[in-house]
Amino acid sequence: MTIPAVVSDARKVFESGATRSPSARAASLRALRAMIIDNEAAIEAALWADLHKGAGEAQLTEIGVVLAEIGHALRHLRRRTRPRRGPVPLALWPARARLVSEPLGVVLVIAPWNYPLQLLLDPLAGVLAAGNTAVLKPSELAPETSALVARLVPAYFPGGEVRVVEGGVEETTELLAQRFDHIVFTGSGAVGRIVMRAAAEHLTPVTLELGGKSPAWVDDDARLDQAARRLVWAKFTNAGQTCVAPDYVMTTPDRVPALVEALRRAIADLWGDDPRASGDYGRVVNERQFDRLVALLDGADVVIGGEHDRAERYLAPTVVVSGGRAVGPDATDPLLREEIFGPVLPIVAVESAEQAVDVVNNWDKPLALYVFTSSARTRKLFEQRTSSGAVVHDAGLIHVAATGLPFGGVGASGMGAYHGPYSWRAFSHLKPVLRKPLALDTLRLAQPPFTGFGSRL
Ligand code: NAD
Repeated sequence: MTIPAVVSDARKVFESGATRSPSARAASLRALRAMIIDNEAAIEAALWADLHKGAGEAQLTEIGVVLAEIGHALRHLRRRTRPRRGPVPLALWPARARLVSEPLGVVLVIAPWNYPLQLLLDPLAGVLAAGNTAVLKPSELAPETSALVARLVPAYFPGGEVRVVEGGVEETTELLAQRFDHIVFTGSGAVGRIVMRAAAEHLTPVTLELGGKSPAWVDDDARLDQAARRLVWAKFTNAGQTCVAPDYVMTTPDRVPALVEALRRAIADLWGDDPRASGDYGRVVNERQFDRLVALLDGADVVIGGEHDRAERYLAPTVVVSGGRAVGPDATDPLLREEIFGPVLPIVAVESAEQAVDVVNNWDKPLALYVFTSSARTRKLFEQRTSSGAVVHDAGLIHVAATGLPFGGVGASGMGAYHGPYSWRAFSHLKPVLRKPLALDTLRLAQPPFTGFGSRL
């Protein structure tokens, strides 16, 4: 089937009204849940083949996140689909208003390769709960997961509520030429711009989930061993290929040696003395990314890890003490010039929390900001003087699993948010429906001639 035919079929299914009723929405969500649960072993195998993602990590960061999102959507479905009463000002009385959440239509979901299942199906849960049909474009760089989803979807959605188009730039470009009612894109800022330009042609609204350099601050008063353990977990999960991974960590110069030792202990605790032998440590997705990461280490002051093997695309959990102080396109240290998106953590020494705030504010607004401190004052300093998609204190990554919180970026890290109620908001149109009975025609007062009312009416 051609791409235009796929999209027009998805539109026909939407226009038939088959996905609108609360029971149809619930049936779609249950089909999605069954698709995942019935095929857990195949999903785990695909994630292992694509990213060396172990079963535990696959459950925690991919399968579990999507199942939680589906459960949340199902629990709240009846309440959210019920029309709410809307307020009507006295001047319009007698009248009644309702607020109706209506689906948008056909939604395109474009996913990246790093969490190839979660970032495709998590938005889908919200899209289906809101009564839309969907076209999914998985990442061609996670080919096993892409092929599996393409094979499973027609079996679990025989009515054509969800369709899959596999492929890379060429197919995505053709998809983007079609008219959609909303586009959810997760990926890089560069492609985000392409998506937004294409969407503008059809005035299609977009949710852009992008990336960037998410900073972490470890204060002098932070409990170092605990902070280090949480930092390395957040950084080296999925071999650092996580949009909300801490990209670099700032601390004061005196604290650097102790932080390095704490990070070393934490890495050994989580992945053993030889992470390469650990079934829980991932691999870099492809050789292109591997070469880019290894080149970033050229001339760097590597204090932990650094071992690498191109044949396996293995790059050890690596910590570097950065000579640079500025972060952004003009930074002297190449590690501080672009999003790292791999298992390399630079430590940047700055004099104080205030200076760390300046470093953050010097460039694009990040997707996440992590602060490790026991001082309420320092927490407030970062919350109030920086802007980011989210702030997490004393941990990393966990906000992604908080289904009730909005997940998204701000500025260069994205626009719009989803998850739980925010997916509902993003993929529905809140339509006010007003009725003013013809009897008791008070609208006459608002119609000319305005004799006797002066100019205030
Ligand atoms: P990418 O932007 O290269 O690709 C994303 C998707 O866009 C893929 O499906 C790909 O096929 C498609 N695509 C690529 N080039 C295209 C083009 N020229 N025209 C049209 N479509 C194109 O991103 P990636 O490398 O898959 O993922 C890494 C990036 O994604 C990082 O920047 C990361 O921070 C970001 N990311 C963000 C989130 C989030 O939730 N905010 C999550 C994961 C990844």
